[in-house]
Amino acid sequence: MTKTNDQLVKALTTDNNFRVLAVNATGVVQTAQQNHDLHRTATAALGRTLVASLLLANSTLKGKEGLTVRLNGQGPLGGMIVDADAAGHVKGYVQHPDVDLPQTDKQEEDVATAVGTDGFLEVLKNQGGAQPYASSVPLVSGKIGDDFTYYLAKSEQIPSALGVSVAFTTDDHVAVAGGYLIQTLPGADETAITELEKRLQTLPSIATSLQENPDPAQLINTIFGAEHVKILDHLPVSFYCDCSKEKFAHSLAGIGRKDLQQLIDEDHGAEVVCNFCGQKYDFSEADLVQILNDQAKDDENDE
Ligand SMILES: [Zn+2]
Repeated sequence: MTKTNDQLVKALTTDNNFRVLAVNATGVVQTAQQNHDLHRTATAALGRTLVASLLLANSTLKGKEGLTVRLNGQGPLGGMIVDADAAGHVKGYVQHPDVDLPQTDKQEEDVATAVGTDGFLEVLKNQGGAQPYASSVPLVSGKIGDDFTYYLAKSEQIPSALGVSVAFTTDDHVAVAGGYLIQTLPGADETAITELEKRLQTLPSIATSLQENPDPAQLINTIFGAEHVKILDHLPVSFYCDCSKEKFAHSLAGIGRKDLQQLIDEDHGAEVVCNFCGQKYDFSEADLVQILNDQAKDDENDE
């Protein structure tokens, strides 16, 4: 289920001080919640990470480039893995989807406790080279937005403000999800930066903004004022997984002949579940025999 509202907008401020990205990813996070049976706090944590990863991928990559975000703060959620690319695709999962904690005193989801801070945010960028470019920073708050902001400042040396938000209906379904990323351009005016920081404190929340108007361009207009913004690009975004039975057949071929034979003899088949999207693939006994035979042929060819 992907909502047509899901899109990412890129903009520049007319004074050339800031580059801005904003995204409405409500459908993305709804799909993640559904695919993985996520409880509320787990939805908020993975949802914020999906949104932040989309913003990061679309601010620093281009074309078919993509990135993988790994995050683990040793909290009850365990690890999270998210893949995002510059074409607006994102997918991800969390180790313990059933984490559901009481809200904080400020009536916010307690993502910080669920994630923990005893660990790292790691980003692997796949830009077509033989090896992905990897960089990591320690987690600073576990709230996700702050952690990505710290990553951008530390690893990419781009002073940025990143805000992410996932809000819920009274029955714990995702009502709205989105965020923004503001990057300071080289030579930006110091006064403008100070004013922006002040302004960000006084604005309505991202969730409130997107609920009033689902167009993420409106979120950017609210921050800077429509007359100070030049919208450059609209890009649809979606929760998308490129898994297939063929790909998993390839993985099964990699587990080795002995283990394959055991699956055939003892289980008479195999069910494989994609971690990223929850899709199930059934391999019959005949499918597994086929994989085993193909493997034998490949081995002969190698010799
Ligand atoms: Zn999948």
